[in-house]
Amino acid sequence: MATDLPLVFEAPRRGKAPRHLADLDAAGRVAAVTELGLPKFRADQLARQYYARLNADPVEMTDLPAGVRDSIGQALFPELMSPVRHISCDDGSTRKTLWRLHDGTLLESVLMRYSDRTTLCVSSQAGCGMACPFCATGQGGLDRNLSTAEIVDQVRAAARAMRDGEVGEPGRLSNIVFMGMGEPLANYKRVIDAVRRITEPPPNGLGISQRSVTVSTVGLVPAIHRLAGEGLSVRLAVSLHTPDDELRDTLVPVNNRWPVSEVLEAARAYADTTGRRVSIEYALIRDINDQPWRADLLGKKLKAALGPLVHVNLIPLNPTPGSKWDASPKPVEREFVRRVNEQGVTCTVRDTRGQEIAAACGQLAAEER
Ligand code: SAH
Repeated sequence: MATDLPLVFEAPRRGKAPRHLADLDAAGRVAAVTELGLPKFRADQLARQYYARLNADPVEMTDLPAGVRDSIGQALFPELMSPVRHISCDDGSTRKTLWRLHDGTLLESVLMRYSDRTTLCVSSQAGCGMACPFCATGQGGLDRNLSTAEIVDQVRAAARAMRDGEVGEPGRLSNIVFMGMGEPLANYKRVIDAVRRITEPPPNGLGISQRSVTVSTVGLVPAIHRLAGEGLSVRLAVSLHTPDDELRDTLVPVNNRWPVSEVLEAARAYADTTGRRVSIEYALIRDINDQPWRADLLGKKLKAALGPLVHVNLIPLNPTPGSKWDASPKPVEREFVRRVNEQGVTCTVRDTRGQEIAAACGQLAAEER
């Protein structure tokens, strides 16, 4: 009988996440507590518990009558994800968490402490459909979109871990980057809702400044334009990786749909509307995209398209298992930076955290599979 089989024989169910408080806006919360037959003020109480006290388990919500904690738990606080493991490195200042979602889907988030800030790298999808050949997540394809609550809860859990001193001295989570698994702009509505929940002040959200949130994209042009119209002041990062269409068609396959020129135009529109500098991500890959002429071309194109409203982040390639590609040698990297700067475009090398814990996008989940 199937019910006698050990769990391990069950194929993972890939499904939608159950509804959670963090999926709902203020009106939705009121409707949900009313549905449960509870007075309206409970909605505000639950939001305070979740966003201000960072509690996700009704057992800890001692200001609720014991009799309703169960029904509230079932209706609004299903367990969205449980940690499979935490891995730390960089003397404990980096911690990567592998989460298992309710349907068995795996995802990762990474907490990085710096002297002046603490950044959480969050996932927006389980897997990714963009198929960039150097990225571990890209190799596995897309499992599914994350729900708003599955994104927000990664942040809540990290904010709580920081508050409680689970990752070094107690501190405050200050920055969010959508640079974990997935293409955030391919899960547009849920990501935007999550950004609102993450940035609104308690009790409606976690109170992280919009300016401290970075949304990173492969360059989905219509979605970049749409993002510019949201009235948010989040930072936009564009994963360019090369200034020419010929190579970008293979490194970032979606370039076949929206070429470099259109991506840079959209980036410009974003910068003009929001007044924020756009970050250009460039994973430097030995003998693939690290030639001096590419550095010159990158500098020229960015200068022409964005003027001073751009900054280049070079990311030394973090090789994925089995890949034939590698990071560029340091002298090549330095020359690349020098040439981009020479065109009048600022360029810095991203500090590489978490190399020894397989922190490149999606590596931990790939190993677990
Ligand atoms: N899909 C989004 C966000 C997730 S990836 C995007 O592509 O922007 C975050 C950044 O990490 C992207 O710039 C991505 O290209 C880069 N990246 C992925 N795999 C990498 C690797 N193995 N080494 C270095 N950078 C990598």
